[in-house]
Amino acid sequence: MPRPILATVHPAALRHNLDRARRAALDARIWAVVKANAYGHGIERVFDSLRAADGFAMLDLAEAERVRALGWRGPILLLEGVFDARDLELCSRLDLWHAVHCDAQIDWLAAHKTQVPQRVFLKMNSGMNRLGFAPERFRAAWTRLNALPQVDEISLMTHFSDADGPRGVADALAAFEHATQDLPGERSIANSAAVLRHGPQTRADWVRPGIVLYGSAPDFPAHDAAHWQLRPTMSLRTRLIGVQTLQPGATVGYGSSFVADVPMTIGVAAVGYADGYPRHAPTGTPVLVDGVRTRVVGRVSMDMVTIDLTPVPNAGFGSEVTLWGSASTGAVLPIDEVAQAAGTVGYELMCAVAPRVPFAVEAD
Ligand SMILES: *Cc1c(COP(=O)(O)O)cnc(C)c1O
Repeated sequence: MPRPILATVHPAALRHNLDRARRAALDARIWAVVKANAYGHGIERVFDSLRAADGFAMLDLAEAERVRALGWRGPILLLEGVFDARDLELCSRLDLWHAVHCDAQIDWLAAHKTQVPQRVFLKMNSGMNRLGFAPERFRAAWTRLNALPQVDEISLMTHFSDADGPRGVADALAAFEHATQDLPGERSIANSAAVLRHGPQTRADWVRPGIVLYGSAPDFPAHDAAHWQLRPTMSLRTRLIGVQTLQPGATVGYGSSFVADVPMTIGVAAVGYADGYPRHAPTGTPVLVDGVRTRVVGRVSMDMVTIDLTPVPNAGFGSEVTLWGSASTGAVLPIDEVAQAAGTVGYELMCAVAPRVPFAVEAD
């Protein structure tokens, strides 16, 4: 028998969340963002459920190849553009659209030998200060690109730093609108948080939802997934492989960080940080046993996690443990709550499920 841990991907939930994004996108077309191996779900496992999107966006050329290998003939966008002049060959061969965020990428295009001009998304830095041309340099970059025979249509994009927070998008949006005022071309601005939280002026021609497709709230804890009508697309489950009875004063795990103050029973679950469960999850982090909510106690180990069984007196050896997502009973533990307890975000937990964890796709 393999270890009982299993990550399950839920196709119906992916389709539901894509529909949800579609409603919020108004008339905009949708880039389904599948970077980081579809936020840890596996591109091949989500593809069928997301193929109602208008295009797929990611950063890794190998991931773009995988989407083409699945038979996708529609648009694919490389969100960070190419990393090397030679990547432009692959863009030509696979018909990939790509972001252009810096002068080096324009130099490479200018030197690229191709019969077929490429579609590019010129990126503006609207305040994030990661990738993109500053507003005052945007027009010059556009003019340079527009003069190249290697370049077909030029679309315009930016990425918000604060769509999920109190600072909002007004300044960034104004900077983008000002810098792109009379330039032709399609526009793409909004990530998940902008699509859900901000006005229709963020929709433009293409939106770029990622995290909403995977059922996590982009602005947790201000709002949770239920508020946004999102459903979990990944459940991480395992089983109890041990049970211990503690007397008051007994300690649990490395460092003896948890001390029982009353008699209690704990379960030992077959999951640990080597599976991607966060080692920073402290005592009190929520977890479901047989669908009943309880808490982690003591330090997370490489291969095991210890759990308070007080609220589930009938649980024992072999009981189902849900680290996030849905239990077999239908009870749901939002990944955002687990992430918050561990001082991170749902994005990181889904992306960090370790290669040793087997995956299954739930049957429809
Ligand atoms: C990751 C990413 C997105 C999607 O962001 P979410 O918060 O997951 O919706 C959109 N645009 C760009 C440029 C990205 O890198």
